[in-house]
Amino acid sequence: MSDRIEPGGTIGIFGGGQLGRMFAEAARDMGYRTHVYCPEDNCPASQVADRHTNAPYDDLAALREFADSIDGATCEFENVPAAALETVGAAVPIRPDAKALSIGQDRAREKTFFEGVGAETAPWRPVHRIEDLKAAVDEIGTPSILKTSRLGYDGKGQARIDSSGEAAAAWEAIGGLSSAGAAEPFAVLEGFVDFQCEISVIAARGRDGDVRCFEPVRNVHRNHILHTTTAPAAVPAAVADAATGIAARAADALDLVGLLAVEMFVTGDGRVLINEMAPRPHNSGHWTIDACETSQYQQLVRAVCGLPLGDPARHHDAVMTNILGEDMHLVPGYEADPEARLHMYGKADARPGRKMGHVTYLAAKTG
Ligand code: AMP
Repeated sequence: MSDRIEPGGTIGIFGGGQLGRMFAEAARDMGYRTHVYCPEDNCPASQVADRHTNAPYDDLAALREFADSIDGATCEFENVPAAALETVGAAVPIRPDAKALSIGQDRAREKTFFEGVGAETAPWRPVHRIEDLKAAVDEIGTPSILKTSRLGYDGKGQARIDSSGEAAAAWEAIGGLSSAGAAEPFAVLEGFVDFQCEISVIAARGRDGDVRCFEPVRNVHRNHILHTTTAPAAVPAAVADAATGIAARAADALDLVGLLAVEMFVTGDGRVLINEMAPRPHNSGHWTIDACETSQYQQLVRAVCGLPLGDPARHHDAVMTNILGEDMHLVPGYEADPEARLHMYGKADARPGRKMGHVTYLAAKTG
């Protein structure tokens, strides 16, 4: 397998959402072709990619044909089935590789992994069955949050527990299934963190092991969905250094080639606790398109293709706001505002909670 993919080559993308779309745009600007694999017609990434394979993730023939048409691949979501990665990975390099993805797919593995690189998480317990949950609530106390280990995002698969009497209802609310005997627990119970703010760091790691981190940004969620990202995060230097150090160590420990987004809580006494990670472009990195020397998407193209990483420095301060289905009435105002940097994802159906686009406002660089 050659280390470099030269301009003119084709990058495969598993997944067809907005992250894949913005990756494909960056790849095209840098002279690459893209081929999206996504079992959904007219998905956001397919609208800007050179090719789209619309097939299920277990269609071996389609996966092999996809692999034959590309020089390397990446994933815009971490839940690509392992067998699909194996089939395509046998023919071309997938960056990040299956190891990073398998940790990113599972909250219990993620927490264990971060503890292994010396980072702190919220107190947590694995929960295989309802009996474990009752014991875990006794140990961790309330309030706490029960989360499915897998396939949860944007608050889905989560239930808050305010007293031990609520454990059974929370288990039912997340669709609790016993995983007794299995190595991987069905869920994790996390202590509720009384955080001062939420931040994230996106680390990029190149083929040569070079690590470049975007600086920490501050994230505000509404209904568990990211609402705004503000850059810079305006946290004390010691917090920013700790956060950046954790992301860089994690990327090294995974021997990652690509991007690693790490979401963290900052407590009132300046501790940094890991919430979760994603080995892919991240919503809290959209601002980098308009405000950094190199965007997260350009960094990923560089890593996937074996080019040297670019400079992630911020050239402007920025505030990025997500536009959800229920926010579409705001779009004409953004369209008319010369200061608004508007990015829409080409989605026809504006359902509540669905990410339709984002808008970034820039200001003169501080700090
Ligand atoms: P998640 O899907 O785990 O990223 O959770 C979405 C959002 O819910 C987080 O960004 C927080 O705002 C909130 N949240 C999740 N876990 C906790 C926790 N243990 N303590 C406090 N807030 C949390």
